[in-house]
Amino acid sequence: MKVEIEKFDHQGRGITYVHNKVCFVRNTLPGEIVDIKITKDQKKYQEGEVRDFIHTSENRIEPVCPYFSICGGCDLMHLNYSDQLTYKENKIRDILNKYANVGSEKIKPIVGNDSPLNYRNKATFQVKDKIGYFEKGSYELIAIDECKIVDARINEILTFLKQQDLSDLNQVVIRVSRYYPDLMVIFKGDKRPHISQYLKLITSCYFEGELLFGTKVIREKIGNLEFSISPDAFFQVNTEGAEKLYQLVRSYLTGNKNDRVLDLYCGTGTIGLFVSDLVSEVIGVEVNKQAVIDAEENKKKNNLKNISFYCGDVAKMVSKLPLCNKVIVDPPRAGLDDVTLNYLLKNDFSKIIYVSCDPVTLARDLKKLSEKYEVVEITPVDLFSQTYHVECVTLLQMRGL
Ligand code: SAH
Repeated sequence: MKVEIEKFDHQGRGITYVHNKVCFVRNTLPGEIVDIKITKDQKKYQEGEVRDFIHTSENRIEPVCPYFSICGGCDLMHLNYSDQLTYKENKIRDILNKYANVGSEKIKPIVGNDSPLNYRNKATFQVKDKIGYFEKGSYELIAIDECKIVDARINEILTFLKQQDLSDLNQVVIRVSRYYPDLMVIFKGDKRPHISQYLKLITSCYFEGELLFGTKVIREKIGNLEFSISPDAFFQVNTEGAEKLYQLVRSYLTGNKNDRVLDLYCGTGTIGLFVSDLVSEVIGVEVNKQAVIDAEENKKKNNLKNISFYCGDVAKMVSKLPLCNKVIVDPPRAGLDDVTLNYLLKNDFSKIIYVSCDPVTLARDLKKLSEKYEVVEITPVDLFSQTYHVECVTLLQMRGL
C-alpha cells in the first residue's frame, strides 16, 4: 500500500499510520511517499518494509554501504550527516521534554563526530560458515566484505580472515588503538583456530580468555593519558568522540581543587583518571573485576596518586563509600537503580554529572533526581554516527546552592 512517512521514531525509522495504527518503516525519511508491505502486525503497532519509493526526500543520500538495508548495524546511512545530527538533537529534546519536563533551552547543540565513517575501534563479527553481522532484528548472518563504520585496519583483518578456515568459531572480536599501531583479535568458539603467519603481526591475540600470543593488553591514548585495554574491558568504541565527551565532563569540574569526586560505573577508570588533576580525590566504583585491574594499571601507568578504585555493584557499595561532594555517573543503558538514586537524593552533592547512553532511562532518572537537583544543561554527543544512538552529558546542580 501507498503511505506517506510523517516523522522519525526514536530508532531512526519512519512513522506512518495504517488503518489508524502506527507503522514503523526502516530506511525511510519524513515526507517520503512509499509503497510498503506490512511485515509485522501487533496489537499496538505494525512494521512495514519498502517495496518501492514513489517520492523521495531531498535529504536522502545514497548509503555508502551496500549492506545498509539489511544489516543490523546502522540506521541512518540514508540521511546526510548534518541531518543525522539534527535528528539526534531533536530526539533528545523530545524525550527529555516528554519524560522529564526538561525545557528545550537546556539542551545544548549536539557535539558532532569528526569522522562519521570508520570511527569504531572495535568490531564483533559473527561466524557461521561465513563471517559478518546479523541482519536487523534477526540471527540470520550476512557475509560482510567491509564495514564502513569501523577503523580501516579492522577491515584489513576481516579480508584476511575471510580466506581462513574459521570452522569451530562463532565470533571474532577485533579491537584497534587509534593512537598506537596496536591490534587485538579475540577468537570465540569451540576450538582454537589455526593461526597463520599474518596474524602474528597482531599485537595481542586471544582464544576466549587464553592469550595465544603477543601482549596481554593493547595501548591507547586519550588526551595526555595512556590506557591499557584488555579483551573484555569496556572502552568507548569511538576514541576521538570519547575524548570530546571526557573534556565536557572536565569542564564541569574545573576551578575547585578541594573537590572529592565519585566516579560511579567507572569501567577502566577513564573518566576519573581524566579529571583527577583538577580535584583533590577521585573514587571509582566498577563491578567488572578485570576493568578494575585495568583501572589500577592505568593509574600506575599515568603516575596518578589521588584516585582509588573499588570493585563491586554500585548499589551495594554506595553506602560504604567515603563521602564526596560531586559525583559522575556513567551507567549502562538500564540507567540508575533505586538504591543509587536514593543515595544521590539523601546526600548533598553540589554537582552530579550524568553520562548516559540511553535518553529514555536518563529522562526517567532525571525526573526522580529533580526533587533535589536542577538540570543545568544537557549536551548530546554523537559517538555512534550512522546509528540512532546518542550519548548525553547532563550537568545537575543541587537546588538552593
Ligand atoms: N565510565 C567508563 C565506563 C562506562 S560503561 C568509561 O567511560 O569508559 C558502564 C560500566 O558500568 C561498565 O564498565 C560496566 O561493567 C559497569 N557496571 C554495570 N553495572 C554496574 C553495577 N551495578 N555496578 C558497578 N558497575 C557496573
